Amino acid sequence: MQAVTTISSTCRQQLIDYALQQLPEEACGLLLAPIGSDTITVMQPIANRHHSRVYAFTFDAEQWVHYYFHASKLNLSVVGIFHSHPHEQPLPSEADMNGFFDQHMLYAIIGFNQKESPQIRFYRRSKNRFIDFPLVLT
Ligand SMILES: [Zn+2]
Repeated sequence: MQAVTTISSTCRQQLIDYALQQLPEEACGLLLAPIGSDTITVMQPIANRHHSRVYAFTFDAEQWVHYYFHASKLNLSVVGIFHSHPHEQPLPSEADMNGFFDQHMLYAIIGFNQKESPQIRFYRRSKNRFIDFPLVLT
């Protein structure tokens, strides 16, 4: 599995912009890096199909599968997933703890508890907790 340590500033800004557009609903999608690279350069939005999108997210299953496999055609690999917290800090919620688990994935949360200065935090997951995993900005 690819060891990602860095995110491009363009991609970071795209995450914030996209999550802002989706307010008041949660935004979600994939984080991608060129195969063999340690840098996330692409974010791929996935439609949120949760019945209560203001409070939670569920990937559109068809899009998830499509973009997961489409990535390899672009020489990209899926290295993480992102979602936003429209009103909360970018800290993993209980729902996040019970959500999709892959110890190789990076988890990005965009938090809008302060609307003027949205924050992104990155995590990796072990079985029962999220571990802070700050990325270098390039
Ligand atoms: Zn969450």
